[in-house]
Amino acid sequence: MMSNCPQTVSAGSYLIGTLDPLDHLRFIQHVEDCTSCKREITELLPVMRLLQRAKEAGVDLASIVPEQAGPHR
Ligand SMILES: [Zn+2]
Repeated sequence: MMSNCPQTVSAGSYLIGTLDPLDHLRFIQHVEDCTSCKREITELLPVMRLLQRAKEAGVDLASIVPEQAGPHR
């Protein structure tokens, strides 16, 4: 029942590194106490590593990562 953390959506942005420095810090602190976000990151990490590698190889990430609804609405 604890899997519905509203902050989980930030996990992707956090891993990509698109969070504001402040949000980034907040999220890191939040994840310490949040099993849901921690799990999300653990699950996303391999994917992000892959994306990172693709990025380094010059692949346009925007073409393979669907636009997600960000924290800003
Ligand atoms: Zn959370």
